[in-house]
Amino acid sequence: MSAVKVSDLDISFGSHAVIQGLNLAVQEGEFLVLLGPSGCGKSTLLHSIAGLIEVSGGRIEIGGADMTDAEPSERGIGMVFQSYALYPTMTVERNMSFGPRVAGVPKAEIARRVQRAAQMLQLEPLLQRKPAQLSGGQRQRVAIGRALVREAAVLLFDEPLSNLDAKLRAELRRELKLLHQQLGATMIYVTHDQVEAMTLASRIVVMKGGVIQQVGAPGEVYERPANLFVAGFLGAPG
Ligand code: ADP
Ligand code: MG
Repeated sequence: MSAVKVSDLDISFGSHAVIQGLNLAVQEGEFLVLLGPSGCGKSTLLHSIAGLIEVSGGRIEIGGADMTDAEPSERGIGMVFQSYALYPTMTVERNMSFGPRVAGVPKAEIARRVQRAAQMLQLEPLLQRKPAQLSGGQRQRVAIGRALVREAAVLLFDEPLSNLDAKLRAELRRELKLLHQQLGATMIYVTHDQVEAMTLASRIVVMKGGVIQQVGAPGEVYERPANLFVAGFLGAPG
């Protein structure tokens, strides 16, 4: 069974067809990277899996169940965006525990999850701080932690590192890779950065104009690109 299965997906905004007849099966536990230039429909595809936008046609299955029309909260996913969107008045701990609290998870269980995520993300010394007292990298760690405490089987990332400087990006890339190994969760990760894709992915999906150009392991798409677009895009400096 696929962790996520997208079949014949169509998404239009007005008369603008952004995704047309897209098919994709995400394997359980894999780190799948959606790679392509700005405007090619990566976020649109990810948001449709998250249930944040309506699809025009097709089907989205998560964990084997039809979730095409399900509410975001019913889909069993966690999501990390490019901008942190933390609650400014809440401490790091409150920011991380907010989702499970609203969902009615017992207190002791929330504490256990926050503790575990904080330890994985080196946030333990920062739990009582407010977002304004954190660096950009620390804030993005909190945003990742907030997704982790949901303990979802599928985690979605939309360019989570693109607002950070090169050194922090490299550091968080290493952490994300480690996290994936520790969690065993299925990750779907959107980026336009070839280096990020090559270092993080178990498989890369190369997109252009809402259409998948190639799916394969990093070495495969790099060494045997399916067409000139893939060759040019992977060869270009990040
Ligand atoms: P990417 O994430 O790959 O940069 P997007 O999925 O954000 O690309 O956008 C794909 C296309 O869909 C772009 O042409 C964009 O302008 C358009 N688009 C995205 N969201 C909307 C929206 N809410 N309304 C209208 N057009 C949109
Ligand atoms: Mg995007």
